[in-house]
Amino acid sequence: MSKSRNAMTFERLKYYRNLIGGAMGCIQSRLSKNPKPLCFSLMVTAKCNCDCDFCFWKHKKENNDMSTDEIKRLLKEAGELGYLDCILWGGEPLLRQDIAELCAASKKTGMYTKIATNGWFLETNPEFGKHTDLMFVSLDAIGQAHDDIRHLNGICDRVMSGVEYHKIHSPKMRIYVCCTVSAQTDFEQIKEVAQYCKDVDILLYFTVNKSNQSLEEAKNVKDTELEADKLKEIFIKIKELKKQGYPIRNSYYFMDYIIAKKNYYECAWPRLATVIYSDGNMLRCYDRKPFISVKDRPLKEVIKDPLFINTVNECKDCKLACVGNYALDASGLWKLEWPAIKSLMQIAIT
Ligand code: SF4
Ligand code: SF4
Repeated sequence: MSKSRNAMTFERLKYYRNLIGGAMGCIQSRLSKNPKPLCFSLMVTAKCNCDCDFCFWKHKKENNDMSTDEIKRLLKEAGELGYLDCILWGGEPLLRQDIAELCAASKKTGMYTKIATNGWFLETNPEFGKHTDLMFVSLDAIGQAHDDIRHLNGICDRVMSGVEYHKIHSPKMRIYVCCTVSAQTDFEQIKEVAQYCKDVDILLYFTVNKSNQSLEEAKNVKDTELEADKLKEIFIKIKELKKQGYPIRNSYYFMDYIIAKKNYYECAWPRLATVIYSDGNMLRCYDRKPFISVKDRPLKEVIKDPLFINTVNECKDCKLACVGNYALDASGLWKLEWPAIKSLMQIAIT
C-alpha cells in the first residue's frame, strides 16, 4: 500500500512549531494588555466568480483591492513581527494573477502559508501551489448539489480535477476540503464529501454557516444557518465518521461544543488573529466594519495603536460565539483548556 500524502513528515514538524508558538503567544498575550497576534488573515480580493447565498462579501462592489507591492509589504512586516501563519483568501484569491508571487512572499517570511479557494482556477492559475503549505478548497456536496450551492455550473468537477492536479504538481502542499455545514446540505451529502476525501487521500474541515449574523447592508445574504438541534444531530454523526477514520480535522473540542448545544464562550480570536480586508482596512469581526487601516501605515505601528488594542480586547465581551472558523479552538488554547490542547495536539500528530 502506498504511503498517504498526509502521513507525518519532517516538513510537518512546522505544525509543532506553530502549536508550541501558539501556546507561548497565548501566554504572552494574556500576561500583557498588548495583544500578540499570531495569525495573519488577509483578504487579497473581494471579487469572486461564485455567487453563494451565504456569502458575507458579495455585496462589496468596490474595486479597491490592494496592489501587489502593498500586500508584499504587509506580508514582510507580518513575518518580522512574528506572526506564525498567514492565510490568503477572498473573494476568490486565484482571480489575482499575482497570487503565486504573494504566496511566495508570505512563505519567504517563514510564516506557514495557507490559501482558501473555491477551486475554479486550480489548474488555470496553479503556480501558487509551489509556494503554499496548505490549501483549503470549498466542497459542500458532490456533483450538481455543490454547483447549485455555489451558483456555478461545473465547479465540483473543476475542484476534483484541480485536486488531482495539485496532488501531482504540488506534492508538498497539504490539501483540505472545506465543507460548509448549512441548511443547504444534509448528512448524506456530507458523508459523500467525507468519502471522497478519504478515497483521494486529502483532509476535510467542516465550517458552520452563520449566515443569520449577516450585515444589515448585506441584503442578498440568505439565512442558511441550521438550528442548534439539527447541528447537534449532524455533528454527532460527523464525530462518528472521524472515529471511523475519515480524514476529518475538526477537533473533538469543537465538535463537542456543538453537540452540547453551547452558545457562548469567551472569545480570544481577535487577540490572536489579525483580519485585513482587501482594501487594507482591518475589520471588527463582530460587525465586519472597518476600524483601522494598514494600507499606508506600518503594521508594527497599527498593532500598538490604542484603537487596535482596545478593539481587539473588547472581543471577550462578544456574544456571537462564532464556530465558523478557528475562533473556538483558538479561544480554548488561549485559556489553556486541556480538552482544546489535547484535541489540537491530536490534529498535529495525525
Ligand atoms: S466562493 Fe466564497 S467568496 Fe465566493 S461567493 Fe462563495 S462564499 Fe463568497
Ligand atoms: S465570537 Fe469572536 S470571532 Fe466571532 S465575532 Fe465575536 S469576537 Fe469575533
